[in-house]
Amino acid sequence: MTPEMIETVRSASGFIFDMDGTIALGDAASGGHQALPGAVDLLALIKRRGVPLRVFTNGTAKPPATYAASLRKAGFDLDDAEMMTPSTSAAAWFVKQGIGRVRVLGNAGVAAPLIDAGISCIGSAEPAQAVEAVYTGWFREFTFPDLEAACQSVWDGALLTTASHVPFFATATGRGIGASFAINAMITAMTGKRAKVLGKPSRIAFDAAADAMGINGADRRRIVIVGDDPALEMRMAHNARTTGIGMTTGIMKPDAVAALKPAERPHAIIASLRPLYEAIKA
Ligand SMILES: [Mg+2]
Repeated sequence: MTPEMIETVRSASGFIFDMDGTIALGDAASGGHQALPGAVDLLALIKRRGVPLRVFTNGTAKPPATYAASLRKAGFDLDDAEMMTPSTSAAAWFVKQGIGRVRVLGNAGVAAPLIDAGISCIGSAEPAQAVEAVYTGWFREFTFPDLEAACQSVWDGALLTTASHVPFFATATGRGIGASFAINAMITAMTGKRAKVLGKPSRIAFDAAADAMGINGADRRRIVIVGDDPALEMRMAHNARTTGIGMTTGIMKPDAVAALKPAERPHAIIASLRPLYEAIKA
């Protein structure tokens, strides 16, 4: 990292960390997580310094509290409130917009933060009138009646929203299909409406994290985002005009960075979390 980047990290108003491939890796054997080297110490140091942080995964397979518990088991000192998924930012955004009736195409992990926020969640195929938004997330159980109900709600005027709109994610055995991407494609084909993204890399997701950390105004530009996915964390950093630090411990490969679009290029690239620890410790 350059001296300027070290100063940026030292003077950050807050941090947003990605989970998989950035601070931890999924552990197929236990179904839980294993911390990446230095990650536990880095987060503990940031918290000791009194700087707010959020761990923001783009997965909605589980509720945020379940991911937080998995990270605590892997050694992290992390409160439930410090863990975010797209449903955390979706819930905050629905409340802000005054949207109180949402058809959820997703499992319990997708719906949990919305229910906690007092939003009335309508079942994926449940007959319902006056649905204000359709929200898609992790939903491998998706069936044709769900498609019909979602399209009907959109035709009736509901806003189409989604946790995530990326086609693939990395798994231990190769490419996994992003469930909501495929579902969105079907609803868009039928209704002509595109899904509004409420998770990463949207500005909505960034603002939800900044709000949750209590960071406002110009200080938001001093939030540092750390992640391994150019299309998610790095794009979010550019969308929010803040700093994105790319980790090459996950899906970002060092030799592929130069070929990235400007909107997805990291402001700095690191191969381990060590430089961040040293910058903050100094
Ligand atoms: Mg990742």
